[in-house]
Amino acid sequence: MIFKCKNCGGNAVYSPEHNGMFCPYCDSEKSHERMHDLYNIQVCPDCSGELQIEEHTSAMQCPYCNNYIILNERVEGQYAPKKMIPFKYSKDMVKKLMRDNFKGRVFAPTDFLSEARLNGMSGEYVPFWMYDYDTRCVFRGEGTKTRSWTSGDMRYTETSYYNIVRDLNVTYKDIPVDASIIMPDQIMDLMEPYNYDDLVEFTPEYMSGFHGEKYNMDATSIENRANSKMRSSAETLLNQSVTGYSRVTPIDKKIMPRMTEATFCLLPVWKYIYKYKDTEYPFYINGQTGKVIGKVPVSKSKIWAYGATLWASLAGVILLAGYIISSL
Ligand SMILES: [Zn+2]
Ligand SMILES: [Zn+2]
Repeated sequence: MIFKCKNCGGNAVYSPEHNGMFCPYCDSEKSHERMHDLYNIQVCPDCSGELQIEEHTSAMQCPYCNNYIILNERVEGQYAPKKMIPFKYSKDMVKKLMRDNFKGRVFAPTDFLSEARLNGMSGEYVPFWMYDYDTRCVFRGEGTKTRSWTSGDMRYTETSYYNIVRDLNVTYKDIPVDASIIMPDQIMDLMEPYNYDDLVEFTPEYMSGFHGEKYNMDATSIENRANSKMRSSAETLLNQSVTGYSRVTPIDKKIMPRMTEATFCLLPVWKYIYKYKDTEYPFYINGQTGKVIGKVPVSKSKIWAYGATLWASLAGVILLAGYIISSL
């Protein structure tokens, strides 16, 4: 499908600045109509140019007429995303962001922030699976507390022994794992956190003006990545619940997850691939928050994260009412 302007016939796109559909040719808002709902297309429905469609592409730009095309069969049926976060940063906003942050930095070659280079960046809706879990965490162990005091010329030490039992039910919501092969997993994890309050029902209008992919891998095949994020958080919670002892000897520790739902979502990412002396320096910008992750030209080994907090805590940790702590 292609969204066209009713007034001038130009390609209407989703504009973060206008917070809605916009025609950049005649500057009109919400003048769009949906056209060319086509399946199994090999040619552009507007200009009939032959399209090179990658295996997982769901939205792209026609290289001949520059219209943004959304491939119906890759956003419907089994590939219909349930939710998405629309772009909050437009290309112009990201250009300004990059210039504000990198201007005057010595490492960057001069054309790193040039208009021509920055115009080459593309907005991508990256497929993610979001996993929900109900996880039971059980800990049993022996704890000791000691206290010492002096009375007269005697020194006393008292040791108390405790049976420690912890039984926690933790509900996790929306643990994200990217389902795109070409997007590097480590970088996508660093894109976090997104603000999931902005998740909306999927509508193809939001994709007009951007690139996109359907999920490349199904929810089951990459669940282990969400599972290990969840486990490390559950382990931390469990450890934090056992405090105040001089010594703790664990007897039993169990983390028992139950995955309750996996939701297919699209999250916005700007991609800027900077080429310098035959080497590519990819930069990724969170399309919702403006957080920049990139490999800086010159100092090669370093992955630089602007304003980054390595995701240390999971965004959606909710402790249920069933949080039971007993210390006997
Ligand atoms: Zn128009
Ligand atoms: Zn075309």
